[in-house]
Amino acid sequence: MKDDGGKAVTKDLAWRELTLEQRMSHALVRGIDEFVDADTEEARQKYPTPLSIIEGPLMDGMNVVGDLFGSGKMFLPQVVKSARVMKKAVAYLTPFIEAEKLRTGNTTSSSKGKILMATVKGDVHDIGKNIVGVVLGCNNFYIIDLGVMVSADKILKVAREENVDIIGLSGLITPSLDEMVHVAKEMERQNFNIPLLIGGATTSKTHTAVKVEPHYTKGLAHHVLDASRAVAVASSLLSADKQVKADYIQSIRTDYEQVRVLRGNRKSSKKYLTVNQARKNKTKVDWTNFTPTKPTFLGIKTFENYDLAELRRYIDWTPFFQSWDLHGKYPAILTDEIVGIEATKLLKDANKMLDTLIAEKWLEARAVIGFFPANTVNDDDIELYMDEKDDEVIAVLHHLRQQNQKAPGQANYCLSDFVKPKNTEGGGNLATNSTARDYVGGFAVTTGIGIEEHVARFERDHDDYNAILLKALADRFAEAFAERMHERVRTEFWGYAKSENLSSDQLNDEEYSGIRPAPGYPACPDHTEKATLWQLLNPDENAGISITESYAMYPTAAVSGWYFAHPDAKYFGLGQISKDQVEDYAERKGMGLEEAERWLAPVLNYDV
Ligand code: SAH
Repeated sequence: MKDDGGKAVTKDLAWRELTLEQRMSHALVRGIDEFVDADTEEARQKYPTPLSIIEGPLMDGMNVVGDLFGSGKMFLPQVVKSARVMKKAVAYLTPFIEAEKLRTGNTTSSSKGKILMATVKGDVHDIGKNIVGVVLGCNNFYIIDLGVMVSADKILKVAREENVDIIGLSGLITPSLDEMVHVAKEMERQNFNIPLLIGGATTSKTHTAVKVEPHYTKGLAHHVLDASRAVAVASSLLSADKQVKADYIQSIRTDYEQVRVLRGNRKSSKKYLTVNQARKNKTKVDWTNFTPTKPTFLGIKTFENYDLAELRRYIDWTPFFQSWDLHGKYPAILTDEIVGIEATKLLKDANKMLDTLIAEKWLEARAVIGFFPANTVNDDDIELYMDEKDDEVIAVLHHLRQQNQKAPGQANYCLSDFVKPKNTEGGGNLATNSTARDYVGGFAVTTGIGIEEHVARFERDHDDYNAILLKALADRFAEAFAERMHERVRTEFWGYAKSENLSSDQLNDEEYSGIRPAPGYPACPDHTEKATLWQLLNPDENAGISITESYAMYPTAAVSGWYFAHPDAKYFGLGQISKDQVEDYAERKGMGLEEAERWLAPVLNYDV
């Protein structure tokens, strides 16, 4: 399996002298698609039916790939390339299979089972789902992929019509967790009993065990950690051996019951302050010796056709490798003993695509940023004003405060702690006191405009590898844009750190002053605060970014958040919060308690 990833490889075509079956296997294992049509045609001349080629040499080759992947000797990028060879061979054979079906009337498929996959309603992310689909597909599962933003009704309707064996749900943002619970409840209500697989970045075994599985007693809800687990799980659940299947289901049920018991025990041992006690223990910030820097402009500024070549230098590569299940820090990962060679090859492919996509302008980058006079009020909210000399409030940002009992000397953080309170030292008469107001910024950036046609082009060519690569790169560009824009904000537009000069490593390690927390992330987990951000910046019109009913951003390659300038401002995790704060928060936001509890479900320390 080893070859050297760095040096220019003179093409070794000796393998073309092997037997047909050996060549097909070699091409699959190495992911070489150059000869796929020729070899498949040769097989068609030799084998009795087109289906027997799929079930014979192609599946044999894919089984080798599956074994190598399963035993850690092959990695995701290679598997996706192998799948590309498989898909192209199958595409070549499809017209012949159709003709054969017409001739014989035989429509039985040879797959191991039908799996319906979908990203749930309100969510638009599909890199992980697509990868899992590819891996399952090349292991002879028949995949029906309904795409993104799919409602429970649609999922269950298709599941019934197509008589599928498994439903797999995917989602990235936290509101999707709740949508998955909804799908589970609907499956129960509509008397489904097929397995429900749960996957995606914010999903977890605990969430599935605690929130999903209890609602779907007629079937099994099962969390799948990543693509490398998907085949084993689906194979066990669809095993022809009834005992294997029953034992597996029982083991998951027992495991999940244990998770629930453990969680129940742990929860009751944690101590929480009341929200008022927590407010008394807020972050101690010295406001008397702080003079807010006034941004160079107030209101918004937009950017169109931002230079991708400039952004390329700001790409943080470590998460790029993670999206391909290659774990390790860049650049050390390139020489890693286990994944180094594959990581190097992947980076080479990525850089090649970057060259082309920048030259040919596949993606358009747009952004909107804004700065507003601001003060914290009543500890946890931040008022934004029309201008510095006026009390007219244009928006209120609602923040949440850590409520868990801290060790002595440690504060209960809330993002509003980093914005100057209204009417304290230096407050009073706004007309005469220019340092009474502080400022808060907001941003929304995207690098995903125009991506669709290129993804579609790759998919038409049965090239999931490049389709996934492009999406992963667009996501990297969006983070890079957020990083670059934040740098320009600090040194230029807000200008509170004019002389800052940091390397890209230092930027990735967040060594700068100030933060850019994003709604939906640990310090501010409530996605609905994006509504306020959208009201202030109007990114729909100003940057071509919209939000779904779950507050997922579209295009997917987008980042949005707030700018806080105070040097003490830092990222933290909210942790779990109690009902007294949720009631207070719902009241402040003018939202019903139930609705607030739904959006905050992942951070509640109580069951609703
Ligand atoms: N360089 C990395 C950045 C990852 S963090 C990359 O390219 O992927 C991405 C963003 O998440 C941060 O810039 C910030 O906007 C947000 N973020 C991270 N931790 C957060 C926290 N605890 N609370 C709120 N937002 C956070």
